[in-house]
Amino acid sequence: MLTVETALENILRHAVQLSSERVSILDAAGRALAEEVRARHDLPPFDNSAMDGYAVIAADIRTARLESPVHLAVIEDIPAGHAPTSTVGARQAARIMTGAPMPAGADAVVPVELTTDPGDSSALPAEIEILEPVPTAANIRWAGEDVRAGDVVLSPGRRLRPADIGALAGLGYSEVSVVRRPRVAVLSTGDELLTPEQPLQPGRIRDMNGYSLPAMIMALGATPVRLGVATDTVEDVRQRLLAAVDQGADLILSSAGVSVGAYDVVKAVLEELGSVDFWKVNMRPGKPLTFGHVRGVPFLGLPGNPVSALVTFMVFVRPLVMTLLGLDHHVHTRNVRVGETMQSDGRQTYARVRVEYEHGDLVAYSTGTQSSGAISSMVKADGLIIIPAGLREVRAGETLAFWSFDQVI
Ligand code: AMP
Ligand code: MG
Repeated sequence: MLTVETALENILRHAVQLSSERVSILDAAGRALAEEVRARHDLPPFDNSAMDGYAVIAADIRTARLESPVHLAVIEDIPAGHAPTSTVGARQAARIMTGAPMPAGADAVVPVELTTDPGDSSALPAEIEILEPVPTAANIRWAGEDVRAGDVVLSPGRRLRPADIGALAGLGYSEVSVVRRPRVAVLSTGDELLTPEQPLQPGRIRDMNGYSLPAMIMALGATPVRLGVATDTVEDVRQRLLAAVDQGADLILSSAGVSVGAYDVVKAVLEELGSVDFWKVNMRPGKPLTFGHVRGVPFLGLPGNPVSALVTFMVFVRPLVMTLLGLDHHVHTRNVRVGETMQSDGRQTYARVRVEYEHGDLVAYSTGTQSSGAISSMVKADGLIIIPAGLREVRAGETLAFWSFDQVI
């Protein structure tokens, strides 16, 4: 039986990031930047006020006190978005709003709270009383103090975050080059499967993997290509896998039909259309896993049980999709205390747990049934704890690695 680590190494061995494309910056969020971005201009682009107040010459107001204010003549009003037209001279001031350009001559801004301006009228006073001095350069945001023209702001490989998208917009980039989204085809197989719209029938269940897996793919920033449900026949599975190749899939996933049952036809089709490695991986849930190629397109056959399909997706498919996306796939696990004794069968076990803070420690409790068919064990879980291969029991109070779903979905 393969270890999880070896199976993952095999899957990732030939994986590389896909080509890049130019997209609008909003479509770039969460994706890997494929170019170096330098600042086209200073940010802020011009000296401006950090406060609503009065632009002054600091030396003029050195003696200002509450009991003996300094009187300045108000020569101009400078709202944000408007260029000043005059120069502030001795014993003069310009009313200025946050973000408005500094007028020539002035070297500080007095916040409105330190003046007799009530701050609530739009009428420009002819004169203003300053109640406290401010030092030279007070409340001015200088051109380029945030970002200098020519600076490298973002480097290739960066997973673009919302702040990065804001910085791109602020620097005049409406488009940027990112790694393109992989197209990941998803096939459900099984004569028993119905869609959510169809009425339940005796012996039938509804397709869950055909929905949970595309949702995972979208959460990673890839594009799902839904292939629907194939019956357990060689003809139907073959036709749908070939359709995935025609639709330009970068990766094809199927669920079910890879065990040793009499109707498990996926393997037979793979042998006919490409190459196949059938693995038993030393993990629970999700022992059977198939890896191969369909007409040159990488293929992963996941187990059919809904929990097994999701957990094997997190362990094997997610790293592959992240690699295609040009992103780091490593999961930052954290340690949690196990709140109750848990059993394993010696395989590397990914137990579904909810976690709670107890006296500052994160403590994990089983979500109940750990059947690989019980979707509720995933729905109720905050993440997975990993019971390493070889252990048959973990006792309450012991520490294990925890994968939060915040990290892997
Ligand atoms: P199999 O690998 O075909 O033996 O399937 C294993 C179990 O998973 C069976 O109980 C199937 O009914 C169930 N199963 C297979 N595919 C799905 C699916 N897409 N959604 C929900 N359950 C499924
Ligand atoms: Mg089946």
